Amino acid sequence: MNLYPLLRRPLLRRPLLKQFGYRLFPGLCLCCNLPSGRDIDLCQGCEAALPAIGHRCQICALPLLHTAICGECLNKPPAFTNIIACYAYQSPVAELILALKNHRNLATGSMLGQLLADRIRATIPRQQYPNLIIPVPLHWRRSLVRGFNQSLELARPVGRELEIAVARNRVKRIQPITQQGRNKDARRRNLRQAFRVVGNVRGLRLAIVDDVVTTTGTTRAMAAVLMAAGASRVDIWCIARTPLEK
Ligand SMILES: [Zn+2]
Ligand SMILES: [Zn+2]
Repeated sequence: MNLYPLLRRPLLRRPLLKQFGYRLFPGLCLCCNLPSGRDIDLCQGCEAALPAIGHRCQICALPLLHTAICGECLNKPPAFTNIIACYAYQSPVAELILALKNHRNLATGSMLGQLLADRIRATIPRQQYPNLIIPVPLHWRRSLVRGFNQSLELARPVGRELEIAVARNRVKRIQPITQQGRNKDARRRNLRQAFRVVGNVRGLRLAIVDDVVTTTGTTRAMAAVLMAAGASRVDIWCIARTPLEK
């Protein structure tokens, strides 16, 4: 009997503690507080109820009435190839992201990161995985105030699960975000100068990890500086995508 295909199954390659640890230390579902019964702090029922995005833009994952390419991507094609978004930015995904971002609930970050890794695994063949994962950086001043970067907290479990290196300092944010009160074009111009690539990304396939993609301004700007620095491809992986800005 040939056991090789069995051994190649991802479940069997995972460390034993990872596979069975939840039986020793059962976790609670972060949505309903009942035992999750799995190696992720989210029960099967609550996961199934998370808000899926139906039809969407094939490039930026913007929710649409039909699957197509949205007006913005047609008019101004972004430097990234596409956005993979797990969910629509609605309850309870919105609350979970805020728990991470505003209340530093790192368990939620780790759970959401695992969901993102599962989504990537189901979407991209392993041979096409990027060389590096880059979390959206915070400006150092904001980082100092907040004490952590939510995108890094999401990128870490994704990198661990998919066995892809996470480069936390490859892109620096050199301007704090002062977007309030600016119009869309001014925000765009401002954002393009907000990032600087540190070190060599020439020829690399990269995935930028973000919590929520709202206007695509940040991810467009980051992808543009990385492509200009010689990256061969940039994709965006995020937990949630918001509907069209009103
Ligand atoms: Zn639950
Ligand atoms: Zn689009």
